[in-house]
Amino acid sequence: MKLAELKWPDIASLDKNTPVIFPVAALEQHGHHMPLFTDSLLLGEVARRAEEQLAGRALFAPLQWLGNSDHHLEFAGTLSASPRTYLDLLNGLYDNFIMHGFRRLIIINGHGGNHVPGQQAVFETRQRYRQRSDLLLLFGTYWLLGGKPDQQGTAMAQQQMGHACEWETSMMLAIRPELVGDYRQVREVPWGNPFLPASRGWITMDRTAPGHIGLPAHASAEKGELIFKTFTADITSLIERVINWNGQSWDG
Ligand SMILES: [Zn+2]
Repeated sequence: MKLAELKWPDIASLDKNTPVIFPVAALEQHGHHMPLFTDSLLLGEVARRAEEQLAGRALFAPLQWLGNSDHHLEFAGTLSASPRTYLDLLNGLYDNFIMHGFRRLIIINGHGGNHVPGQQAVFETRQRYRQRSDLLLLFGTYWLLGGKPDQQGTAMAQQQMGHACEWETSMMLAIRPELVGDYRQVREVPWGNPFLPASRGWITMDRTAPGHIGLPAHASAEKGELIFKTFTADITSLIERVINWNGQSWDG
């Protein structure tokens, strides 16, 4: 079900155990060969497929395209909600739907910069409603839910998600090839080892002058379709687990 297409009495009469999904992404630079709306277009496609497969058993809010992209602001065109503004925004979305009576709320994320504020929003919301024992508050980034597109029988150059990389470029080639520039000549920008396993503060310019991270030259539309299938399956199986939750237990 699509929140944007329903009327308020439809929402009021829904079973309040229906999972509510908030897809959140970004509008930010994606190197020389990919459009600014990459994260929103890719997560939008994952959410579209998941919504279709779940056939009316989950309620999908429209994708929130403004994300926390402060680290990309040196690159022209990037729009960003600063981390604290973004944290307030996500907390507010949760408050809205708790007020509407819903109990199972899931943020599905499609942008790295949203990860920390998203987890913080889930944590803060639980503290705010700490007297409740019937809430299920989740945050998940779509490429970190367990699926391994590089282990599905098609050789891939990358084993992890980068930025405007083999994986993202492949996905864009699968859905909007006319928006992809000359990716075949784009040179590798490696992930490196920034004092791992410590977490280093960074801006994108610290890591990449052109804006991408990874190996976009290895992209193909076929890989993109495989990546979409893998990650959509992760999202739908997470939402199935939410549907099957008994409403109380810690385990799910
Ligand atoms: Zn991206």
